[in-house]
Amino acid sequence: MALPVVAIIGRPNVGKSTLVNRLCRSRDAIVHDQPGVTRDRTYQEGYWADRTFKVVDTGGLVFNDDSEFLPEIREQAKLAMAEAAVAVVIVDGQQGLTAADESIAEWLRHQNCPVLLAVNKCESPDQGLAMAADFWTLGLGEPYPVSAIHGAGTGELLDKVISFLPASQELEGLEEPIQLAIIGRPNVGKSSILNSICGENRAIVSPIRGTTRDTIDTSIEREGKTWKLLDTAGIRRRRSVSYGPEFFGINRSFKAIERSDVCVLVIDAEEGVTEQDQRLAGRIEEDGRACVVAVNKWDLISKDSHTLPAMEKELRSKLYFLEWAPMLFISALTGQRVERIFPLAALAVEQHRRRVSTSVVNEVLKEALSWRTPPTTRGGRQGKVYYGTQVAVRPPSFTLFVNDPKLFGDTYRRYVERQIREGLGFEGSPLRLFWRGKQ
Ligand code: GDP
Ligand code: GDP
Repeated sequence: MALPVVAIIGRPNVGKSTLVNRLCRSRDAIVHDQPGVTRDRTYQEGYWADRTFKVVDTGGLVFNDDSEFLPEIREQAKLAMAEAAVAVVIVDGQQGLTAADESIAEWLRHQNCPVLLAVNKCESPDQGLAMAADFWTLGLGEPYPVSAIHGAGTGELLDKVISFLPASQELEGLEEPIQLAIIGRPNVGKSSILNSICGENRAIVSPIRGTTRDTIDTSIEREGKTWKLLDTAGIRRRRSVSYGPEFFGINRSFKAIERSDVCVLVIDAEEGVTEQDQRLAGRIEEDGRACVVAVNKWDLISKDSHTLPAMEKELRSKLYFLEWAPMLFISALTGQRVERIFPLAALAVEQHRRRVSTSVVNEVLKEALSWRTPPTTRGGRQGKVYYGTQVAVRPPSFTLFVNDPKLFGDTYRRYVERQIREGLGFEGSPLRLFWRGKQ
């Protein structure tokens, strides 16, 4: 699921970070909504008119202010440009054209990437056009006057940016294989599940902890779709003895989650949910991936008619991040229900990519608001929701336009999210809600 890349280039202080923050405002909101979440991202996601893309801020690329820029920096910029669908070069309209802008432009003309020229700090629309006009001489096409601080002109710029992105059909990639990652801590039965699915010894299972296993990404057909079973941590791994039996390559699991469209989080039925399982579950939610929880080794549990619901309740209370994920009880050893993973995962993937029209979103919102009115502060101010709209998929994300986001506490936000799920489904997929105030 490769998102198209938009590279941001420019000298220091022209307003690159300010512009990136503006383009990725909704993404910031996610980080903000989940305190304590650290992300090691070198990019952020931007949304505009139904499109999602990655914005790479080449903030680290320091162009010497009035001289040529350094070879190693040029190399880095080249790499950023090589992956980019379009580059936005930013100049400072108030400062006017500088020699450094010219050397950047000269270099950009030799790169094989479409370039848009944004003239920043143009707060007033009339003056902006005049200020921007000076930059025609850079030979980078039409200069777009913008104000990263106030937002003026950024809409026009974004319209232009997305016109360079590959068609969203290609992106939605329904014909592309679905990347499925089997995630779990060591010994929960990931390799056994993989074997049960592939019907051959792709992954070598061993009862001895710390045994060498090996496998590669495997493609299979199920539910009329092609699935790529990702080679995840704990399946393909040469565990070095020196790490000890408890060593757990959590970062590799995190990488696999990031590469996936859908995760099958495997829990050991006998051991229940551990802290490591919770970390993996939390990461799946945070990364916004579709998910199915598979409780494995079900054959080892002695059962009566109450066992399953009681156990599901107990497991779910510890996996509350994934309350939206379907849960399946399987045995990789006997093969019981292993194949059920696919219809559930297919449904989760479909929900993850689902779009709901604005009118339907607002019907659900209206219903939710009339059942429970938004909270009122002690000072008598009441939260108001004007309307909501779905702004992205993978995962489905909604922006709610409200009078003041601060008036909506966590309890009310969770209530609205639950109502959206109740009204619209989205089983197997996390949701994102952005509460945006009047600007
Ligand atoms: P970067 O070094 O290119 O990432 O630039 P920053 O985003 O850090 O911005 C540099 C300075 O320019 C900061 O003081 C910003 O407040 C200011 N700035 C950014 N955008 C605008 C704008 O649209 N108008 C004005 N007047 N100042 C801006
Ligand atoms: P991984 O480290 O997550 O890949 O786990 P493995 O697939 O290597 O399984 C670890 C151990 O659990 C092996 O001894 C498997 O035979 C056993 N195991 C895996 N799945 C099941 C199951 O459904 N039932 C039982 N009884 N044992 C299982």
